[in-house]
Amino acid sequence: MRVLVIGSGGREHALCRALRLDPSVVEVHCAPGNAGIADVATLHQVTPTDGAAVTALAERLGAGLVVIGPEAPLVAGVADAVRAAGIPCFGPSARAAAVEGSKAFAKDVMTAAGVPTARAYTCVTEEEAAAALDAFGPPYVVKDDGLAAGKGVVVTDSREEALEHARSCERVVIEEFLDGPEVSLFALCDGTSAVALQPAQDFKRAYDGDKGPNTGGMGAYTPLPWAPEGLSERVMAEIVRPTVAEMARRGTPYTGVLYAGLALTAGGPRVIEFNARFGDPETQVVLDRLETPLGGLLLACATGTLADHPPLRWRDGAAVTVVLAAENYPADPVKGDVVAGLPATTEEAYALHAGTTLDPENRLVSNGGRVLNVVGTGADLAEARTRAYEALEQITLRGSHHRSDIALTAATS
Ligand code: AMP
Repeated sequence: MRVLVIGSGGREHALCRALRLDPSVVEVHCAPGNAGIADVATLHQVTPTDGAAVTALAERLGAGLVVIGPEAPLVAGVADAVRAAGIPCFGPSARAAAVEGSKAFAKDVMTAAGVPTARAYTCVTEEEAAAALDAFGPPYVVKDDGLAAGKGVVVTDSREEALEHARSCERVVIEEFLDGPEVSLFALCDGTSAVALQPAQDFKRAYDGDKGPNTGGMGAYTPLPWAPEGLSERVMAEIVRPTVAEMARRGTPYTGVLYAGLALTAGGPRVIEFNARFGDPETQVVLDRLETPLGGLLLACATGTLADHPPLRWRDGAAVTVVLAAENYPADPVKGDVVAGLPATTEEAYALHAGTTLDPENRLVSNGGRVLNVVGTGADLAEARTRAYEALEQITLRGSHHRSDIALTAATS
């Protein structure tokens, strides 16, 4: 099987790497990809949100499977276009991807499916927003009702700041604060069935100690030694399966990853948000641990045959990824600086590329806010984290920064 992956981040590098390790996958292609993905896949220059162009490329390549990484092409209907051409596609339709594209839609689905989540109001006017804020009290949670790349959410004790964010959005969702540690759980879905990947945790704030602005994610680790026994089964039973059933009932069956961002509250797991794609950077660690060949698994989702797929197998041990971010990320990342000292790829540590490219002199240069993900693996989180940081310390990029506390608490408790 030939596989075409759409996207250009660390997540897509992890997907391409895992697909490359699947003996049933003879060729991995990626569009547009990045400088690191070029080592494991053939790159093609196609605009990821252009459904006709992606479909034409898949047809030209004779792809047996198209895997769509980021949310923007999903919301733009690229999966619909690929499927309409008769090519199996891993990724939800535009209508199903609205679980991520519209927070109000996601709340509606969850309510209908009886899925535990934060109580919420959707507001348009400032008066409605003010009333909703006062109904819940601090800490205030204010979300832009649209795609905001994980940056449209403000959680604050300041009523003024909450109201100011609400004013800056066309439609806003104001919700109850969910208190508890956060977990990312990816469920692979084929429209009717679903299977859980191993849970992971990511770190959204820019600086150590969960300080600073929200980012796309600064690091992640799996497994979660502190998570309650049976967490995945409970989330599948109470959250994922009811959601998949509700989406099918509405005539918009869900094919692809349903990413449940959860808060483990005193009352059990509750949904903070759904995403319609793999999380970045959690995918980098979760796929590292997955022993089951990825291509066959994603194809089973794309063809509605997940129920016949054998149970997933996982490698023992742990994986930790740390993001190397460009100077001034997330506000206004500096691009075009030389990246040097990349560690050799081994089983124990390796770099996955996100914002990298080659300059006219063929040097590796930064080309985005999150530049690299350094993955470390080991028998446990402590060993995985040591290896990730040892590899990261070798890399030089002027002005870059990273968090030094990824997986620290989990590894030492
Ligand atoms: P989201 O984009 O919805 O994932 O929100 C980004 C981050 O804001 C989440 O990872 C949480 O840390 C926080 N957050 C969002 N909604 C809530 C909530 N209802 N209660 C507590 N924290 C929240």
